[in-house]
Order: sequence, then C-alpha cells, then structure tokens
Amino acid sequence: MSQPKDAAATGSNFLRHIIERDLAEGTYAGRRFAGTPGDAAHHAGAPADPARIRTRFPPEPNGYLHIGHAKSICLNFGLANDYGGICHLRFDDTNPEKEEQEYVDAIVDAVHWLGFDWHAPEPALGDAAASHLYFASDYFDFMYRAAEALVGAGHAYVDEQSADEMRASRGDFANAGRESPHRARTPAENLARLRQMKNGELADGAAVLRAKIDMASANINLRDPALYRIKRATHHNTGDTWCIYPMYTYAHPIEDALENVTHSICTLEFEDQRPFYDWLLDTLCSLGLLLQPRPHQYEFARLNVSYVVTSKRKLKQLVDEKIVDGWDDPRMPTIAGLRRRGYTPESIRLLCDRAGTSKAGGWTDYASLEIALRDDLDPKAPRAMAVLDPVRLELTNWTESFGDAAHREPCLAPVHPQHPELGARDLRLGPELWIERDDFAEVPAKGFFRLYPGNKVRLKYGYVVECTGCEKDGEGKVSKVLATIVADTRSGTPGADAVKVKGTLTWLAVDDALAAEVRLYDRLFVDAHPDAGGKDFKASLNPASKQVVSGFVESALGAARAGDRFQFERHGYFVADPVDHGPGRPVFNRTATLRDTWSR
Ligand code: ATP
Ligand code: MG
Repeated sequence: MSQPKDAAATGSNFLRHIIERDLAEGTYAGRRFAGTPGDAAHHAGAPADPARIRTRFPPEPNGYLHIGHAKSICLNFGLANDYGGICHLRFDDTNPEKEEQEYVDAIVDAVHWLGFDWHAPEPALGDAAASHLYFASDYFDFMYRAAEALVGAGHAYVDEQSADEMRASRGDFANAGRESPHRARTPAENLARLRQMKNGELADGAAVLRAKIDMASANINLRDPALYRIKRATHHNTGDTWCIYPMYTYAHPIEDALENVTHSICTLEFEDQRPFYDWLLDTLCSLGLLLQPRPHQYEFARLNVSYVVTSKRKLKQLVDEKIVDGWDDPRMPTIAGLRRRGYTPESIRLLCDRAGTSKAGGWTDYASLEIALRDDLDPKAPRAMAVLDPVRLELTNWTESFGDAAHREPCLAPVHPQHPELGARDLRLGPELWIERDDFAEVPAKGFFRLYPGNKVRLKYGYVVECTGCEKDGEGKVSKVLATIVADTRSGTPGADAVKVKGTLTWLAVDDALAAEVRLYDRLFVDAHPDAGGKDFKASLNPASKQVVSGFVESALGAARAGDRFQFERHGYFVADPVDHGPGRPVFNRTATLRDTWSR
C-alpha cells in the first residue's frame, strides 16, 4: 500500500486518541473475519482479522467528489495509513435513481489522483494484495436476509400507511409519535408481506419495512425508522434484480460490519443516527448474523470552504444549466475541477491537514486553498515568462547597440531561482518585444515606476532601457512603445548596477514568443457564503470568473505537456490545460495569482 508521506491526519487528535486507546486495549483484536465482500464467511471457522484498524470512505455515486470529500478521504486514508490499517473505498450505491457509472469512475479517479490506494494485503483471505474497493449493492442479499431475521424476531414490521400518514404519526420534538395500526402484526404476517414486497406484488410506495423500536423515543430517528422501500428502478450494478431497496441508515452500518470496519468516521449530521447504528448492529449480533466486536461510529465537523457551494444538487445545477463547462470546469470545487485548475494533490492534502479535524465546525477561507497551492508550488514550479495583455516595445537603437539588426542577445534566466541545479532558460532579446500593456503609461500616476517617457526600467535578465515615447493607432490606443537600450547594463555584468532603476519588466521577444490561449480563472462567487440562509446562490455568481486572453509565453513552452505546471513570473501559477492543451495548441489555465487579491 503506497500512500503519500504527508497524508498524516495530524489535526485529527480526538480520533487519534480513540484509535490509540482501541489499539492499546485490543478492542478489535481476534475478531472473526466477517467476510468481504458479501457474507461468505462470518461465523466460527472464519479466519481472524489481524488487530488493525479499518476505516472507509463511503461516497454515494450520485455526483463528483468535492473539496469536502477530499477532507474525508485524507482523514480516513490518512488514519489507516498512520496506524498500519486499511481504508476501504466503498460505493454507497443504495439509491438507484440518482447513481451512475460515470460518477463511479470519476470517484475512483479522484481518490487515486489525491494519492490514495485501497490495495492492501489481506492475509485472512489468503490474498497478498487485495483490492478494498467495494459496493454496498454487493451486500443486498445479506441485507435482505438480515431484514427477514429482524422480522422473524419481532424487530421489524411492514407498514402500509400512506407516506403522509407516516409523516404525521412520527410526531416531532415536542410530541411523541403514534404507533402504526400495522405495528401489532405477527412476525409470520410481516414475513409474508415482506416477501410480497420483494417479489414485486406491491406497488411502489405501497408499503415500507420499518424497525420496531420506540415511537415515543426522544430521538426521532428511533421512532420506527424505515429499512426498506419499494422502488422499481434499474440499478447500475444489480440491474432489475431488486424492486425493494434498503434505506441508507439501514444499509450503512451493515456495510461497515461486513467489511470489518472498526472506526466508521462521518460528519456531525449523522450524530443523531448513531443510536440507530448501535441498535441495528447490536440487534443483528444478538441474532447471530453479525459478530462482535462490531464497528463504531465517530463524528467530526465537515469542512466548509468560503466562496464555493458544495451541495451536490447545486453543483449539478451549475453543470446542467451550463453555468460552468462541466463537472471539471476549473472554477468548480470538485476534485476534477481543482485538478483541471492546476491544483496539486499535495496542496489539497495540505489544506485538509491544516483545516484540522474536530467536533467544532467553522469556515476555511478560500484563500487557504491558494496559500496551500503557493506553499506547495513555490519551491518546485519551473518559472516561465508570459505576457498576457501584450503591447509591442521597440528598441530603436538595436542596430547601433549590437552592430547588426539580426543580432539576438542571449539572456539566461534560472528555471528556479532557488534551484540553480535545475539549469537555465535561454531567452533571446531582440529589437521587438512584447510587454504588458499596463507596464507603460504616457502620463504616469504617482508611484508608477515602470515605462513612461524619460524613465528607465530593467528588462528582467536583460538590459536597462529608457522610454522615449509611443505610437498610437487611429483610435488613440497605444500600438507601440519606444525605448532605447542603455549600453553596458546587462544583468550579471559589472555595469549592471551602474544605473539604478525602480522597475523591472517581464518581456518576450516577438520572434521568440509562442502565442497561447490563457484562461484567467477567478472565484465563481463574489459572496463568501453564496447559499447561506436560503439565498439564491446563482445571484452571487462572479461575472469575471473566467476570462480568456490571447497572450504569449516562452517558446520553450511549446514542449509543455498537458498538466505541466509553471509559475509565470509576476502573474501566478498556471497549468497547461489537462484537456485542451496539446502540440500546436498551447492552452494555459491560471490556478492562482502570486498574492491574494481578495482580502481588502
Ligand atoms: P449527499 O449525501 O447529499 O449526496 P454527501 O456530501 O454527504 O452528499 P456522500 O457521497 O454521501 O455525499 O459523502 C461521502 C462521505 O464524504 C461521507 O462520509 C460524508 O460524511 C463525507 N463528506 C461529505 N461532505 C463533507 C465535508 N464537507 N467535509 C467532510 N466530509 C464530508
Ligand atoms: Mg451523504
């Protein structure tokens, strides 16, 4: 099992304490292997699972994973990794209507990309490197058998009240619920009814199987929760085999138990479900269907990031309404989107680690994502020159300076300023350059130190030049800036410091520049909490979240491969678009600027 070294879920102290206690006390030692997948071998005679922890990441394949899921992935895989355990990737695919193979594939891809793996030795199964990728739907047979056992023991019944009646009789925080008229049916009657449900003899919604717990419980989740519903829907894995499907709250604890999960870690919304989780597993253990020691559920506060929405329904809406260009649009907070935007797996793991794991919720500022990216890329991203809003600069004394109009002056720039061993880039200075349009001002504002008539600046890695004026087109727009080279001022030569300048410009020689499409991405929303308090999240979309410009980059970037990352000097971090970039079509995405431009 190869896992990233930095995956240590260091902020997860309260979970670490629980795991360390369980390891010290041998809570899960000597367990009989409950059989994975399915329920092949879970009784006496089955091999013992070594005393190690097992966690799981259990996505429902009904959308793409987002930054919040990354937190859960880093936590579950990170803890298993740190304590010599195993983390399962399990698809919680109990809801056929919304689930699709496309999402399964995208989730597998995202977890892998983040740097995690679900292969691990499984001696209990005689397999040196078992895949711990599971589907809840593989356990449908067991789940149904468990349902019949609950019915037979009087712990469940078939209710045929209408959905409205059931809602009304559930009560609320102030009032106890009312028992269903079907609650007193005998186990034999219930079993017959359940089989009719399963055999397709009842219409969708005509009946549900409910646990028989306590309609007066202070915890509404224990007021006879539904276990199975009738739904004629084709399942991505089991096809039309079933017309009844288990409810999530029933299926999830069973999935954990069958996989011998020890620490079932979820977000705080499920805290109120824990008593049912415990009831179900203890009841199934007492009926001999599952074995003690069984899994336990622990909750932590979800990761909330400002300036994004993470509800799958809203993300899907952005995609379906074509507000963004698909699930992997670089503005999406999906893992696929972050990847396409140029984020590194290391930066996402760093963010999740820095966000910590606790019971107290809070907000992580979107800027933290960019900070994590800069911290990761600054020491390693190769530097490159780019001009994104180009205007020509003509060096009018080129021939006098070098004796030949065709002369090109080689200028060496380091690939990385702190890593000379990475070598140098060979930039060739010529008489015609591209510079940024806003590096010139005909009439400078106070504090403007770049090009204006009479002022000198340094062309980075090259010469000092003095601005002599500009040319304009018919509409009065500057079409060319004019300057002269100041002799003997080349960077790295003794004369370089003889002339003091306050500005240094990035540039590209016109005949040594590669035209590129550059996509300047920014936050998708202008509101830090786009969907707080029932607000219409689409009202705060940032109209400037994507700007496509025609710029120039160093000619060497013609050899960049899709997915390569660079720091464009003065501009920020960019990635060669993982999808659209290719030979003959350079496309770069801005991942993040060099400094935060949002904190005012
Ligand atoms: P839904 O259930 O509404 O479709 P979900 O975000 O809960 O959405 P799941 O696929 O069920 O989606 O989530 C998989 C796992 O990721 C769950 O264990 C869930 O608790 C966890 N998770 C989801 N969102 C976050 C978040 N913001 N922070 C941490 N963990 C999260
Ligand atoms: Mg969920």
